[in-house]
Amino acid sequence: MDRLVSEVILMRAVDFGESDRIVHLLSPEVGRLTVIAKGARRSIKRFPGTLDLFNHLRVAVNRRRPGSMAMLEQATLLEPFLGLRVQSARYALASYLLELMDRMAPEGAARPDAQRLFGFVLSALRTLEGATPNARLRVLLELRAFDALGLRPELARCVRCGERPQGRVAFHVADGGVICGAHAGERSEGTLPVHVGTLKVLQQGLEYDYSRLGRLAFGPQALAEARQLLFRFQRFHVGIELRSERFLDESLGWAGLTPEST
Ligand SMILES: [Zn+2]
Repeated sequence: MDRLVSEVILMRAVDFGESDRIVHLLSPEVGRLTVIAKGARRSIKRFPGTLDLFNHLRVAVNRRRPGSMAMLEQATLLEPFLGLRVQSARYALASYLLELMDRMAPEGAARPDAQRLFGFVLSALRTLEGATPNARLRVLLELRAFDALGLRPELARCVRCGERPQGRVAFHVADGGVICGAHAGERSEGTLPVHVGTLKVLQQGLEYDYSRLGRLAFGPQALAEARQLLFRFQRFHVGIELRSERFLDESLGWAGLTPEST
């Protein structure tokens, strides 16, 4: 496939050299895709109003140049997501989710995986455009992001024995799932305590349609546990604090969690 024509979401754009921009895209055909937009800064006519964060575009990309970066030939704006640019919490959460995808989504993904990732990002941006982001929506969209990345945590059954646990159980971060009372044993470093009720709400968050996510009922305790669980899960898989994370914490009016606060 020398020439790729695909709809994409723009996840990141950085200046390169004197007149070019390097653009990170997410495509339902191939997953993450890095292209060079030649002359994007020299001439505003070259890619007018298209190479901005969040933009949903249709692009044509030339991939015929072995050993060099694919080249953006054409970009048409399909959906500008203007609603994400007028409110800081929306902007912050959308930026955070795209940064997570830009870091974690595979290049040259198999088509079903690429379609799942693209579908998640498009749904998340559309949901956010009409939402008032809060801690609950952040937790649920972050969970859906990991699900789209193929990292869905096991929330319903013990990852050791397959039983449905009751009461207060443990979540094993590295094993990516819940551990029942019988198998929790000594509390080890990689686990955190969590109530089954919290896991049930998160499970619904994976199954509900995006339009219903805002209606999921989280009590204060469940929300605190869910935040801690997602924070630990994110750190385990991403390994670092993302650039947009502190801005997001500030925008949502919460102090950032640290591993020490568990
Ligand atoms: Zn068990």
